[in-house]
Amino acid sequence: MNKYIFVSGGVCSSLGKGVAASSLGALLEGRGLNVRMVKCDPYINVDAGTMSPYQHGEVYVTDDGAETDLDLGNYARFTSGPLSRANSITTGQVYDAVIRKEREGRYLGRTVQVIPHITDEIKSRITAVAREDADTDVVIVEIGGTVGDIESIPFLEAARQMIHECGRINAISVHLTLIPEVAGGELKTKPTQHSVKAMQEMGIQPDILICRAPTILEEATRRKIALFCNVDPEAVFTSYNIDTTIYEIPLVFYSQKLDQVVLRKMGVESRHAQLNDWYSMMDRFKAQAGTVRIGIVGKYMELHDAYKSVYEALFHAGLANAVRVELVKIDSTPLEDETKARGLLEEANIQGVLVPGGFGQRGINGMVRAACWARQNGIPYFGICLGMQIMVIDWARNVLGWEDADSTEFNQDTRHPVISLLEEQEDVVNYGATMRLGRWESVAEEGTRILAAYGAKHIFERHRHRYEFANAYREAMSGAGLKLAAFTPGGDLVECVEWPGAGAGGHPWGMGVQFHPEFKSKPTAAHPLFRDFIAAARERAGGSTTEDAE
Ligand code: GLN
Repeated sequence: MNKYIFVSGGVCSSLGKGVAASSLGALLEGRGLNVRMVKCDPYINVDAGTMSPYQHGEVYVTDDGAETDLDLGNYARFTSGPLSRANSITTGQVYDAVIRKEREGRYLGRTVQVIPHITDEIKSRITAVAREDADTDVVIVEIGGTVGDIESIPFLEAARQMIHECGRINAISVHLTLIPEVAGGELKTKPTQHSVKAMQEMGIQPDILICRAPTILEEATRRKIALFCNVDPEAVFTSYNIDTTIYEIPLVFYSQKLDQVVLRKMGVESRHAQLNDWYSMMDRFKAQAGTVRIGIVGKYMELHDAYKSVYEALFHAGLANAVRVELVKIDSTPLEDETKARGLLEEANIQGVLVPGGFGQRGINGMVRAACWARQNGIPYFGICLGMQIMVIDWARNVLGWEDADSTEFNQDTRHPVISLLEEQEDVVNYGATMRLGRWESVAEEGTRILAAYGAKHIFERHRHRYEFANAYREAMSGAGLKLAAFTPGGDLVECVEWPGAGAGGHPWGMGVQFHPEFKSKPTAAHPLFRDFIAAARERAGGSTTEDAE
């Protein structure tokens, strides 16, 4: 029998439900269990692919090319189970499937309703994840939104039914709430009581409460919450504020015995916890000395979540290099002004430039300026997807001297379309899921930085883009020294470019990749490209990494 853990949230959003669910997943993996993570998103979009990064943060891409909610990125960073289209369930998908079945006459004339038809569809998608692999022990299902929202009701109802049908030993509810502090420093439990009442009204009695609070809750407070909320006192946990890193949360929960209580409630025997990876990651965190400043030159700078996986991967690379990485967010739009660009970049006092993925014209010329500046000044540069295309445009404009060189995404009429659509995509009009998406193989050339980083010729990474390096320009570009460092098998598409390294005019570290390596980086295992980029930035900083003030 598979076990299910439903993680819901109350009081307000942004309490770190995704991190809490992922941390629980990490602890159960530490116990040797085979864990699968599922996110239920109450929005009506079929997937996150068409949502603006401003609205919803980054789009996390899976191997099978699903464009999912960024919480799947948390799952990937904390746990090791496979993630695919099946692990992200949205209201849009569920209704889409039910309406299609209705049109096909599969409901045999019955009235199609939220209960049971929508809830059955949700349940069948959740159990499908459990069934994917015969060895799955536990499925952790995170329900997006806050209890009390109209949107999440069908998901909570599906959870209620599953808890009832599987029995409490096989399906439990973990509810995350907020314990606010009011003037005078007093911690208030009332919102938590109300939130649990809202769960009970939905027919779900939470088994475990995780309370977000400024400090760890005292025994008396936990007892009070337990009494009012109908849970065991030892099942009340605190996710208290920490000033280290979110990656310490699994250990914070472990020290409160969250895994023990969960396993006991579900009647699961397991090995002792093995959390060495997490402890040694924290050792590396504490051993970090000095800081390198990395300029992220993009256009969604105000919202941290827009480049979430990139920022996390940089942090992981800092752990791998024993140096703290300070993010310097540089809006590319002001860099479009040629007279200001240089000054702005110099003032930023950065030892590396990263241009992340992106779409649309705004800020592009500023990004090209940043790439050019990094190239001419020996500053390590890492271009991801759009960031690689920017590197190619800079090379065409500023090395080959083709001033109007561009991507046809930004200028249809350029005489030098160095980045363009693949021919077969040219009549695409529909914007949902029309890109090169998901896992593709790249083959690294000999003598390249990318080969050195991976230590392997065959590389598997995820894509999400429409435009490509235009093959007609391969010769001119590489003739002028740009290294075409990796291709799709068979050589059809350019996957990686590098600035020439050795010799006169060589550059310490400049690389652009057409894929998104950030999706596969973990705190316990930094991605090799981010690792090497930060190593180069650290080198650039030389002895001058800013030491901590005493
Ligand atoms: N806009 C570019 C393209 O579609 C890059 C996409 C990206 O960076 N993810 O090819």
